[in-house]
Order: sequence, then structure tokens, then C-alpha cells
Amino acid sequence: MNKCLDSGIQEMLPDLAHGTLDQQSRIRVEAHLASCESCREDMVVIQTVKNAAVFAPTIDVQRVMRQIPPYRAIVPGVRPLRRSGRLARRMRQRSRRSRGRRAGPGPAS
Ligand SMILES: [Zn+2]
Repeated sequence: MNKCLDSGIQEMLPDLAHGTLDQQSRIRVEAHLASCESCREDMVVIQTVKNAAVFAPTIDVQRVMRQIPPYRAIVPGVRPLRRSGRLARRMRQRSRRSRGRRAGPGPAS
């Protein structure tokens, strides 16, 4: 099958599928479809997508939002990180040291 090069017709295929072409354009496109296998196949795809869209479920965003668990419960069994304990103390000390470095040379270095 050769790919159709008539882009003007191809742009009108969705409009034909949706019935929004004026009569003159519709006759022109339908005449083209009779002789163009490529556009006929495109038309089948467009019709398939159009028909599928009719049955697409509407998305209830509020309902989806209610299903999302709160942040702390994302990984069950893993407690959220707290600002205490040895690691947090070490991190605080490190940030204090880097602040001192930025302020200029320290007294004992
Ligand atoms: Zn064509």
C-alpha cells in the first residue's frame, strides 16, 4: 500500500468521521476514499478511536485523590525519618561546620 500524499484530504478525514464537513468537501473526500486505500485505512483507525472515546470512562479526580494514602503511609512498616538519633545529630554538626567555613577561617585551623 502506498502512503497517500494528499494531505488536504487527510486533514479532512477526522471531520468526515465527525460529520462536520460541508457537503462539497464531504463529496470530495468520499470520492477520494473510493480510490485511495491508504486513506480508507486511516479512516478505519479514526472511526475506531472515535468509537472507543464514546465509552471512555470519565475520570473522577476527587475520588482518585481520596484513594491516595497520606504521605507517611506510603511504605507500610517504614517509619518516617525523624530529626533525632545519631545520624541526625551528625548531620546537624556537619552543617554547623560548613556554615563556619563559609564565614571565613576558623580559630583553630
Ligand atoms: Zn488518500
